[in-house]
Amino acid sequence: MYELRICHLYPDILNLYGDRGNIICMTKRMEWRGIKTQVTGISVGDALNYEDYDIFFIGGGQDFEQGVLLEDLAQGKARQITEAIEAEKVFLAICGGYQMLGQYYKTWDGQQCDFIGALDLYTVGEKERMIGNYMYQCGAGDGNLTVVGFENHSGKTYLGQGVRPMGTVLAGYGNNGKDKTEGARYKNVFATYSHGPLLPKNPKLADHILKTALLRRYPDLCLEELDDTFENNAHDYMQHLLHG
Ligand code: GLN
Repeated sequence: MYELRICHLYPDILNLYGDRGNIICMTKRMEWRGIKTQVTGISVGDALNYEDYDIFFIGGGQDFEQGVLLEDLAQGKARQITEAIEAEKVFLAICGGYQMLGQYYKTWDGQQCDFIGALDLYTVGEKERMIGNYMYQCGAGDGNLTVVGFENHSGKTYLGQGVRPMGTVLAGYGNNGKDKTEGARYKNVFATYSHGPLLPKNPKLADHILKTALLRRYPDLCLEELDDTFENNAHDYMQHLLHG
């Protein structure tokens, strides 16, 4: 029987706006296909061995919570996460979790958080937050998917040469409100500002990410199509609203 092992990093600390819904969505989409899912929460003080998992999920958090994690990251998790990324494990990282994979985050009130540095990007906060429903288009490597979502961040993220954006902003702010980039892609890392129902509202992206993880382990696996009428309606409704 096929199996997918999900590692939910800091589930009790990084979980803004229902980011956990992405775990529920992945689990459900596997269950509907008869694939077993094992979800393991790894938080402060827990040992992490990246080889035990297929997908890593990191949700968003407030500046305070991001600061609280620095010590724990420094005690081995930052290295494990970097090695996992280099070993092409699949990551889905949202907002604060996305920022955490980068080099640093300088908060709007001048606090410097030196992060993992696994991705070539950095974030600088500004007092005025970027909030609202938004939409972006992924690159050709990710099927040119149109992703609808919700963003709420003070940090403005700037990408270096070592990563590419996850998409181009069609409506809303994205990484920094200026250069029309949204999120970051590197190896099998999917990093985005899109909170809450990212995967339920974007079922094609959900399957794309799941497939990326499953095919690494089961190269011959054929993921059967699901009836996504309901999910696609939610997606298309948002897309329609955002196009004005
Ligand atoms: N604290 C970070 C910011 O404001 C991340 C916020 C979030 O995860 N929503 O930019």
